[in-house]
Amino acid sequence: AQKYPEHIWHNGEFKRWQDATVHVMAHALHYGSSVFEGIRCYETPNGPMIFRLGDHLRRLFLSAKVYDIAMPHDEATLAEACREVVKRNGLKSAYLRPVAFRGLGGFGLSADTPTDVAVAAWEWGPYLGAGVLESGIDAMVSSWQRMAPNTIPSGAKAGGNYLSGQLIAREARRLGFGEGIAMSNTGLISEGAGENLFLVINGKLNTPPVSAGILSGITRHTVITLAKEAGIEVIERDLPRETLYFADEVFMCGTAAEITPLRSVDAKQVGAGKPGPMTRTIQSAFFGLFNGKTEDRWGWLDKV
Ligand code: PMP
Repeated sequence: AQKYPEHIWHNGEFKRWQDATVHVMAHALHYGSSVFEGIRCYETPNGPMIFRLGDHLRRLFLSAKVYDIAMPHDEATLAEACREVVKRNGLKSAYLRPVAFRGLGGFGLSADTPTDVAVAAWEWGPYLGAGVLESGIDAMVSSWQRMAPNTIPSGAKAGGNYLSGQLIAREARRLGFGEGIAMSNTGLISEGAGENLFLVINGKLNTPPVSAGILSGITRHTVITLAKEAGIEVIERDLPRETLYFADEVFMCGTAAEITPLRSVDAKQVGAGKPGPMTRTIQSAFFGLFNGKTEDRWGWLDKV
């Protein structure tokens, strides 16, 4: 059975996990009207550090802005809640989940209900399974496409978007794959169910642009920054499906998935079928931020 942490922050105060409940008629439960973040806290030589906390909270507020979800707390309050929920639960490394959603107070689609806000934190290992950061996963191109631009905005991290993610992820698991990759409505590579994608082609890092219906991932931005720092050329461009089969290396990235190599796509081996040299370079630069080997020149680490 799942073991839950003891403390959770809910609407401005700390509660016991089991007491942080909502009404079954809460708006978000019916209509997907929530916005959320996934943030990781890493154990570092200088103690537990939350990675890019400010950037994640900024995106949370922008997601709320898209849906006119009024935020009853400011960024500083939520930042403090994030730090405190890690501390109170005695966690060293953790996955943090701030969520804001339309609560109880109206049943119409455009109802302005009060906003509930919560921040949870728990221990969460590699999202796509034990050992996958080293061995890689087998991915498949999903039969489901991502939302088209000007339908459900992929740039806002809203609960409703994850119906798309569930279709993609569950199809992949059902068919025995580690994760699904979605194409955009224009038939170009978009992203994984909950991860952005990078392809190594001719020694350069390629990644789909925001116009491919992706979430503009904070890990994606981190990878781009670290790659440039390492002298690697990064190209954001339209990528047709077959480039997944042409590429020498492919990896997925995200807060939960971190840097996960792909050893195959659609049962076709990627490169040598194991994490390639550029993937390893990016992985060690990324995890170096937390073991002290990569200098944090960007102020990305936030002490809890
Ligand atoms: N795309 C989707 C659909 C996601 O859910 C996520 C995870 N938040 C990402 C990409 C990666 O984003 P980030 O690096 O900010 O976690």
